[in-house]
Amino acid sequence: MRFPLHIATDMMRWQLKNWWAGNSRVPVVLMLEPLHTCNLACIGCSPERYTGDLRDRLPLSKCFEAVDECGAPVVSVCGGEPTVYPEIVELVEGIIARRKHVIMCTNAILLDRFYKKARPHKRLSINVHLDGMKETHDFVVDRAGVFDKAVAMIREGKRLGYYVCTNTTVYRETSVDEIEAMCAHLTELDVNGILLSPGYHYEAIEGDDHFLYLEEIHAKFRRILELSKRYRKISSTPLFLQFAAGLREYPCTPWGNPTYTPKGWKGPCYLIDGQHYPTWKEFFGGVDWDYWESRKDPRCRNCKMHSGFEPSVVRKLGENLGDVVTMARWQLESVRNRRAA
Ligand code: SF4
Repeated sequence: MRFPLHIATDMMRWQLKNWWAGNSRVPVVLMLEPLHTCNLACIGCSPERYTGDLRDRLPLSKCFEAVDECGAPVVSVCGGEPTVYPEIVELVEGIIARRKHVIMCTNAILLDRFYKKARPHKRLSINVHLDGMKETHDFVVDRAGVFDKAVAMIREGKRLGYYVCTNTTVYRETSVDEIEAMCAHLTELDVNGILLSPGYHYEAIEGDDHFLYLEEIHAKFRRILELSKRYRKISSTPLFLQFAAGLREYPCTPWGNPTYTPKGWKGPCYLIDGQHYPTWKEFFGGVDWDYWESRKDPRCRNCKMHSGFEPSVVRKLGENLGDVVTMARWQLESVRNRRAA
């Protein structure tokens, strides 16, 4: 994923520090879920995410403890819906005060409330969920009007001076023509980044369906890879897009984006409801990382999630000079585009 230069620099510093300390497994983005409450009930989402019960949310102190223990330079605040978290502004400000970068992932329904209380900061990105254009997105989130609200909040965020990105999951059913229309629309809105990631249903591991599914994802991402050459706001790395298109392979890096929830540290990854660990030490020392990196588990066979594999792009970069050149060009291009804007 493309980060602004000051964030990329912080991430490099963090990697060097760990390399110097001899740490081979280094978390880069903490996925912090302060609550499992949501104001939407999207199709396919687990029912526990929209209970409406705020009592099981994490207290601020536990969130900050997780940020400090994990140490990752970037914290992605997700959930549930983070703008429903009553202490969201204090949480964002507290993470920024720790000199971390915050990505707040939101469906945008309550963003106006957040904008009234918060203020833009160079360490804060607003990441709006959009799974297509109006008809598709409103269908996925199972509520009319959410697409229009999201677009209005993107506009308002840009007007107020926020760094605003979007996050799209591409499913088997998603049309790439629609993704292109969405990229054109978001480019007009001058968003700062468009993250596109393959959807993943690990329940579909029986029979031959998943092979078809994987081939379809590859075909879609071959087209998206081409789109990324025209729509420069697409922020998934070119090497990740090649992986999603089936043009290269990577081991998984599940420890790159560890997840902390009201139930504890979730292992092995954001997707698999394996086990929850009460402490960072038990989690980081307790998960069999060799096994999960290998992708031997049937649930991993078709997974191409950016949270598992964008860190692999970084981890494996030094092994191929051509890849280093590709990534350096891509990052420099984004700096040039920003200067030209
Ligand atoms: S391959 Fe996917 S499902 Fe398996 S550990 Fe990695 S991120 Fe999780």
